[in-house]
Amino acid sequence: MTNKLKKISLLGATGSIGRSTLDIVERFPERYQIVALGGGLNISELSAQARRFRPQLLAVQNDAGAEELERALKENGLKIPIIVGRPGAVAVATCPEADLVVAAMVGAVGLEPAWAALDAGKNVALANKESMVMAGRLLNKVAAANKVAILPLDSEHSALWQALNGESEAGVEKLILTASGGPFREFSLTQMAAVTPAEALRHPRWDMGPKITIDSATMMNKALEIIEARWLFDMVPEKIEVLVHPQSIVHSLVEYRDGSVLAQLGLPDMRLPIAYALSYPERLRLELPKLNLAEAGRLDFFAADEERFPALALVRRALAAGDSGAIALNAANEIAVDYFRAGKIGFLEIAAMVAEVLDKVEPREFSTLGEILNFDDEIRRSLSDPENSGN
Ligand code: MG
Repeated sequence: MTNKLKKISLLGATGSIGRSTLDIVERFPERYQIVALGGGLNISELSAQARRFRPQLLAVQNDAGAEELERALKENGLKIPIIVGRPGAVAVATCPEADLVVAAMVGAVGLEPAWAALDAGKNVALANKESMVMAGRLLNKVAAANKVAILPLDSEHSALWQALNGESEAGVEKLILTASGGPFREFSLTQMAAVTPAEALRHPRWDMGPKITIDSATMMNKALEIIEARWLFDMVPEKIEVLVHPQSIVHSLVEYRDGSVLAQLGLPDMRLPIAYALSYPERLRLELPKLNLAEAGRLDFFAADEERFPALALVRRALAAGDSGAIALNAANEIAVDYFRAGKIGFLEIAAMVAEVLDKVEPREFSTLGEILNFDDEIRRSLSDPENSGN
């Protein structure tokens, strides 16, 4: 058993994945060391983390946060360099000491640092699914050119990774992503039209940040995960399906061409997929509550309903349009989720707004990060604020 200390840069440190990652690191101090932490706006949490893990570098979103963090560190007798904004995230991602970068920022802003990490020859444990959605084809090339790996952190993709166990695409009939179905799994369209942001933020199984929780309620999260799986496992989209499984015990399945189906099961706890990515190819002895199937009693499965959850149909259209389709789907969804959370549009209008953008998008392929970010920005600017435009 190799026990070399693995040095980790963590982006998105104060979010739910970030905190779970630090929990694993703290349980195995002889295996893992944090060398850089990037956070957003939760300065008190980031400052507490800096005191616990003593990184060499910190990144925050803005100047006010940097000042507050510097003061808090000084009060504790600490002086750690702090870099602000996008350059800060990129500095954490490319920290020379790091062997592995855990990319757990939320949304499209996570792409640039993930790209930079791969380009700097770092293995990346990727929770930021938007990176793979926007640029999976190119990120795979950057990873291959630098001889590094993109390791899945998303629970479903970790399950697929484990169930695939290195087998080639030729033997695989289907990748089956499970979905909890979110809080509105049994709602009619009429009921869904009336749901509030507070209701959409209550997820029945997983404790996640607000953006991904809304995405779970619309099932856009699963749509994004289809694209993520397409690139993580280099699998044609036709081979990727969704299966609703409300208990979130079976995290995903692989159906092979001989009819065998392999699945990965576990309690819904993000520390499992995180620990697997950190320790791969070994497995850690995790002292966490264990799955007891006799106690669980039953596991239910349902077909996904594309009429009530149009995100699952929209993703097929996005994939057919290539790079531009996936980027447009993601950008339009991020803007629509912001509008919904601000009470500017209704729940069903999230998918409607995405559909409207996809209607107009021309199929295009991109070859650089700059082209991708420009196109992403173009889509965002095309979506005027529904309140300002008065409709
Ligand atoms: Mg997931």
